Amino acid sequence: MEMSPHKPKSSASFADRMVNKVGQFDVAGRTLLIPDMSPTGSRLLAASFRAFGVPSVVMPTYTHLHLGKEFTSGKECFPCQVTLGDILGFLEEEKKRQGDSFNVSDYVYFMPEADGPCRFGMYNKMHRLVLDRFPDFKDIPILYMSTSDGYASTGILPGEKSKYFRRLAYVTMIVADVLDRITWRVRPYEREPGQTDAYMATALQEMMELVEKRGEARDFDAIYALLGRIAAHAKTIIDPAKPRKPRIGIIGEIYLRTHPESNQNIIAELERFDAEVVDASLGEWVNYVAFEQYREICKDWKQAWQRKDMSTLADATRKWAESRIEMAWQGWRQNQVYEQALKHLDIQADHPIPDVEKKLDNDRLFTFDIGTEAALSIGGALGFVHDNFDGVVNVYPFTCMPSTIASAVLKPLLLKQNVPYIDASYDGAIQPNREVALRTFMYQAAQHKAARDEA
Ligand code: SF4
Repeated sequence: MEMSPHKPKSSASFADRMVNKVGQFDVAGRTLLIPDMSPTGSRLLAASFRAFGVPSVVMPTYTHLHLGKEFTSGKECFPCQVTLGDILGFLEEEKKRQGDSFNVSDYVYFMPEADGPCRFGMYNKMHRLVLDRFPDFKDIPILYMSTSDGYASTGILPGEKSKYFRRLAYVTMIVADVLDRITWRVRPYEREPGQTDAYMATALQEMMELVEKRGEARDFDAIYALLGRIAAHAKTIIDPAKPRKPRIGIIGEIYLRTHPESNQNIIAELERFDAEVVDASLGEWVNYVAFEQYREICKDWKQAWQRKDMSTLADATRKWAESRIEMAWQGWRQNQVYEQALKHLDIQADHPIPDVEKKLDNDRLFTFDIGTEAALSIGGALGFVHDNFDGVVNVYPFTCMPSTIASAVLKPLLLKQNVPYIDASYDGAIQPNREVALRTFMYQAAQHKAARDEA
């Protein structure tokens, strides 16, 4: 493919574009382009947007990684390169398909960001820099939702719609987690190879159609009923004669651990070597963001109290109450969604965030004060150990800062506890020794399970 980038005109116009073309916009009348991260989660997010009248598509993924690599220096995080390749590839293919009628202003590119020390907050700026070099693509706005305001969507959809969209998006994200957990619980024990994937693909399609039709009315009962039926049917796929396998928990960086193309299908690989796998959830991250905001509000409240600053104190008290209500609502909905499946099938429940924090042993191992996904990965791994998993895999982009911290803490800790642990970092290259490493890890996990069964 021929791509013809130009140099951006001036730094002043660039500064304008960073403000005007990366932000929250009313997306009405334009097609929202969503990167494919978690196959289930991204599709249900797109269905949630469509439920509110925003035409949304999940872009094909990993088909144009060469472009992501060509227009970056090689020092960026791998997910930044993958998603850049996805947006450039999508626009280039659309331009070819539509010819003269192609107008990039018909689209909005969705690239969320995170607050804090991580480079994830810079992906959309980096993508802006690259897209600005293409005369045909430079006018595409980049839409973000940020952890800094708990993924608020007030700038995207008008008034009340925004609040209701956020509610629906949260529930459908948890539904995505549960659908994935159903797949991972059933697939290693299926009667016929391929049965689970075939059934769950139909189930996802049915769920997307329902979300699209009933989402705006927030008909959660209909969504719950369908999820219950899916779990009940999925259970019939399990061959009860097949013995339970070693259970492996995956932690790590959210994009890499949920994007099968980037992680070279690590879940399927582990299953091939006789594992039952549970990946950390999407809900965990969003609940963590809400919990972090709550901690910040508590800090502000304490400081205002010490200064006897009554107006800040009143504001912090209001925010504190809103934050408590939001977290309680999220926990209530999350439990409701999991219950629909748990009535039929013993999928792995999610770790509540305060429990994850407790696993850090009063900040001895790590602290939420530092933040980043390292806190979740360390606490989450110890949660898996607590739940009698037989091994932990840390999946992350090569050079990822929080995952490297998690590795430094977890490796000696789990070694001491005799729990098999392995790092799996990815940058798009094929490592010839990966298969051997995973096989060896699974051998250790099988031994761990055998020892546990005997005890
Ligand atoms: S979590 Fe890792 S991969 Fe993601 S932005 Fe931070 S350093 Fe990069």
